[in-house]
Amino acid sequence: MSEMKFVAELDIGATVPMLLHCPMCKERHIDEGEFATKLHHTHACQGCGHVWRPAVVPTHGVRFLPGFKNAAA
Ligand SMILES: [Zn+2]
Ligand SMILES: [Zn+2]
Repeated sequence: MSEMKFVAELDIGATVPMLLHCPMCKERHIDEGEFATKLHHTHACQGCGHVWRPAVVPTHGVRFLPGFKNAAA
């Protein structure tokens, strides 16, 4: 039942929302549409094309961190 285990791991949200900025040109990197839910370790800057890996875990770039406004208030 390895397939079911794989699905279960995806269900717990294995990709981490992060505020990502390109280390080369500092452009904000936001994963939208299919990239927001598709697991990926490396991100390609839409501005300069630089590819980097911000963390060892799968991540996706977001405009705002969930709960960030609440934490700052
Ligand atoms: Zn990305
Ligand atoms: Zn860039």
